[in-house]
Amino acid sequence: MEQQVTRQQFNEYMVPVYAPAEFIPVHGAGSWLWDQSGKDYVDFAGGIAVNALGHRHPAVLQALTEQAEKVWHLGNGYTNEPVLRLAKKLVDATFADKVFFCNSGAEANEGALKLARLVGHSKNAHQKTEIIAFNNAFHGRTLFTVSAGGQPKYSQDFAPLPPAITHLPFNDLAAVADHISSRTCAVIVEPIQGEGGVVPADPEFLKGLRQLCTQYDAVLIFDEVQTGVGRTGELYAYQAYGVVPDILTTAKALGGGFPIGAMLTVDRLAEHFQPGTHGTTYGGNPLATAVAGKVLDLINTPEVLGGVSVRHEWFTERLNQINHQYHVFSEIRGMGLLIGAEMSERFKGQAKQLNQLAAEEGLISLIAGPNVLRFAPSLIIPQTDIEEGLNRLERAVARLCA
Ligand SMILES: *Cc1c(COP(=O)(O)O)cnc(C)c1O
Repeated sequence: MEQQVTRQQFNEYMVPVYAPAEFIPVHGAGSWLWDQSGKDYVDFAGGIAVNALGHRHPAVLQALTEQAEKVWHLGNGYTNEPVLRLAKKLVDATFADKVFFCNSGAEANEGALKLARLVGHSKNAHQKTEIIAFNNAFHGRTLFTVSAGGQPKYSQDFAPLPPAITHLPFNDLAAVADHISSRTCAVIVEPIQGEGGVVPADPEFLKGLRQLCTQYDAVLIFDEVQTGVGRTGELYAYQAYGVVPDILTTAKALGGGFPIGAMLTVDRLAEHFQPGTHGTTYGGNPLATAVAGKVLDLINTPEVLGGVSVRHEWFTERLNQINHQYHVFSEIRGMGLLIGAEMSERFKGQAKQLNQLAAEEGLISLIAGPNVLRFAPSLIIPQTDIEEGLNRLERAVARLCA
């Protein structure tokens, strides 16, 4: 018999970098979770935009167990079949010619930023090193990626930080045009700022960044860790915007719950990496890539991608209806199934309270900063589960207003 565990043990044994909910989910299926006491929850969080096919999708489970019967890990002295299949699928489905695999979004961005610096050095020994990033951006938790991120609360305590990173206001093309120069090696941007509050880039902003990067010979990096793999209703958000980056990073939904990240790029940049310049032990691990290959096959279909837009409509229609009655939100925004609801003036800063009330009512949602309730459910969530989840949200909203 395994030892019984309680939430209290988190406080006793875990480094306190998180403050998880008081309940412990133990079992999941589709868009549902159950905790230790058997209470059910509709899952609109999807493990933070990760479980794009819900929990325990049968075909993904089969891909995992089939690979588990063959070989789990080889290391990068040997390639493997699942990684080669997945790389080809990603290249065939995107602008990219080459893929580098790793284990997380931060690591994919770390690789992208290192590649941009490497390319910059090749052009101008010590001058072309500046990275332009944006206020409120989130790119991960390594030292380089918290430094590129635009939320000083995540970086300031870890100084000294890597230099030559400039932060400019998001969606302010004029600020970038004023600042960018021949010393700029890269611009890194999220097509929709996820952690920063579900704030979509203006199409003109991304188009302008593309032009400026081409003009100044800088690398344009799209951080699609949150927006990628169908989340917006296209496989990648760059396709929805019609703006092609030089490097794209993807993680979260790529593994559907199995840790994996990837950096996609073009031959002209990829060739700067040589054996030994960069790497990671688990990158391209056969278990992870077998799962991701199946996830990609299942999501990259007209039915699933088209279904995301349909679900966006179901979702926002009902959300607006709730808001019409209670006026808790000042704006409901986002694309596809990455939806943010900004708290209205009266409830400013109360996204976390609403999130907690929702959990009590049996709904798992997310926040994006103190003022935005965020939803990133399964891309194949049934209409009845959306309805049930939003009924539960309505009860939480009513309690918040009471
Ligand atoms: C979550 C996220 C990351 C970090 O990914 P990890 O897997 O947590 O390292 C980076 N960029 C964006 C846009 C994200 O949403």
